[in-house]
Amino acid sequence: MKVLGFESSCDETGVALIEVPERGAPKLLGQALHSQIAMHQAYGGVVPELASRDHIRRVLPLTREVLDQAGVALNEIDVIAYTQGPGLAGALLVGAGVAVSLAAALGRPTLGIHHLEGHLLSPFLSADAPEFPFVALLVSGGHTQLMRVDEVGAYEILGETIDDAAGEAFDKSAKLLGLPYPGGPHLARLAEQGDATQFDLPRPLLHSGKPDFSFAGLKTAVLTQVKKLGDAPSEQQRADLAAATQAAIVEVLVKKSLLALKQTGLKRLVVAGGVGANSLLRQQLNTACAKRQLRVHYPELSLCTDNGAMIAMAAALRLQRGMADLQPAGGFEVRPRWALDAI
Ligand code: ATP
Ligand code: MG
Ligand code: FE
Repeated sequence: MKVLGFESSCDETGVALIEVPERGAPKLLGQALHSQIAMHQAYGGVVPELASRDHIRRVLPLTREVLDQAGVALNEIDVIAYTQGPGLAGALLVGAGVAVSLAAALGRPTLGIHHLEGHLLSPFLSADAPEFPFVALLVSGGHTQLMRVDEVGAYEILGETIDDAAGEAFDKSAKLLGLPYPGGPHLARLAEQGDATQFDLPRPLLHSGKPDFSFAGLKTAVLTQVKKLGDAPSEQQRADLAAATQAAIVEVLVKKSLLALKQTGLKRLVVAGGVGANSLLRQQLNTACAKRQLRVHYPELSLCTDNGAMIAMAAALRLQRGMADLQPAGGFEVRPRWALDAI
């Protein structure tokens, strides 16, 4: 069985094709991605209307590219999956509209996928795929959650952020440091030249005893330091502050992940979402988990942020388990706000 997946929840248009065997690992046959980052950079963030329009421009050429890569014809596709939510309504409608139209033309069913389930299951695209059950640390631009995952579709939220997401904390701090949008990777790069001990930043809720998070106070603390540095901070001061910010975020993510593992008694951690690409986070999780004989899994670096492959993979894993809510092509609705534990 072949499943085509579309992702268009925010500022990446992603398309991917996966071969789904009855059992065994689904295989990625092709994928293509267009990031709109350069287009939104001038505005310092994503402009929803521009995002929707650009998805429209990109989605069909990317689909052709994927089919060419895979050497598969349109009518060989069995199921068409798309991100149904959460995300920007207009952006979601483009992916959903294209998926349902294509399905109608081909006489095939569609499958709406939860974007965060896509992130969560993205490590199944790696050679070293995880086994259930596991604790998942989902750290993206809009979400920071620790989850207990017993199987595909069995998601229990153990704790989450009460204000900003980890990716948001990276991006907002980076903006204060004068770095371009999205600031996470830029801040991480600047931090390589810095000394994290030069600034003392808060670790909110670190000792709450629960796997919850709060990052809004950190952003305020960074703002206070930026103001203290004045109009012309040295390159070294900026790098030191970047390093201190990254260290604060990473320390909280690592300690809370270990807490969730301890409280659940599970021995396996899966990291997913854009911040999962952060190398300090990976280093510290690797060290902490090795020390405690815990396994840790990540998506491939290029699959941490939004992409079509993770949507097609989530669809594939659901299809294999008979858990796919297939819909005949027809009307459709997107769900801009949609909790993962509600699916
Ligand atoms: P959501 O999935 O919650 O709807 P999103 O799709 O916008 O949000 P992702 O695409 O998963 O989020 O991740 C984007 C985030 O990851 C941005 O905040 C970005 O700064 C951050 N990010 C990407 N690479 C790195 C890195 N190396 N270090 C830190 N943060 C990073
Ligand atoms: Mg994005
Ligand atoms: Fe995402």
